[in-house]
Amino acid sequence: MKFDIVTIFPAMIERPLAEGILGRAIERGTLDVKVRDLRDFTTDRHRVVDDVPYGGGPGMVLKPSPIFAALDAIEAERGRPSAVILTSPQGTRFTQAEARRLSGLAHVVLLCGRYEGVDERVRERVTEELSIGDYVLSGGELPALVIIDAVARLVPGVVGDQQSVADDSFSRGLLDFPQFTRPAELAPGAADAEGRALKVPDVLLSGNHAAIRRWRKREALSRTLARRPDLLDGAALDDEEQEILRELQDGRISALQKGKAGSDA
Ligand code: SAH
Repeated sequence: MKFDIVTIFPAMIERPLAEGILGRAIERGTLDVKVRDLRDFTTDRHRVVDDVPYGGGPGMVLKPSPIFAALDAIEAERGRPSAVILTSPQGTRFTQAEARRLSGLAHVVLLCGRYEGVDERVRERVTEELSIGDYVLSGGELPALVIIDAVARLVPGVVGDQQSVADDSFSRGLLDFPQFTRPAELAPGAADAEGRALKVPDVLLSGNHAAIRRWRKREALSRTLARRPDLLDGAALDDEEQEILRELQDGRISALQKGKAGSDA
């Protein structure tokens, strides 16, 4: 999958992309990412990318012409992109479902705004606007990294074990189950707030794969029910999960009826 990222701070994108899973995928050629310095598409001696807003007011606005020139250059070099995304707090909320949709595209361009944002006319060349959440950042670089990371993990071959992607939170409308690693029991004295030893649940040490699978389903469901019940409406649950969910819901109702609200189900 191809990405082009247009920014006035290329280093903000290049360093993070060189690390970890994405770094390896780029090295292998599974991902083809080009970072474009917006200043390379200016025509004046000082390489100016911003200007004052018409109508007055504080701050600066990214000029349209360098962005148009960057998009023209990308298209000339790599063909017409499948999507041109403007990062913007005014955009559609970026979710796992959006990440999945974008992971099916061949070539995505991401535009990083700065200052007060980009000249409104840039939207003529934009196919979609995405927001990573209801807060305002000082630039589109972090949003572009968030989007490319979430999308790239879904591209086949980027994450080694596709099962781990399938289990991830949100992928089926559920939060992920809890994970433990060695040691099975922490040194004596390490205890939770109620004084219980910090032990790994016995079932995970049992070697009983059917029991482990069922425990994980129950944990994922009970977490989702406790923390994000809104997700359950859209979740794709198998028969066993539906049965476990009914048990958990019945358990909650009877706990409530006894007058003690069940916390983590
Ligand atoms: N004045 C603008 C915000 C500009 S913030 C407004 O209120 O809409 C500067 C740039 O940071 C934006 O152009 C965008 O590219 C990026 N940005 C800031 N917050 C963002 C968010 N939540 N999601 C995606 N991009 C964001």
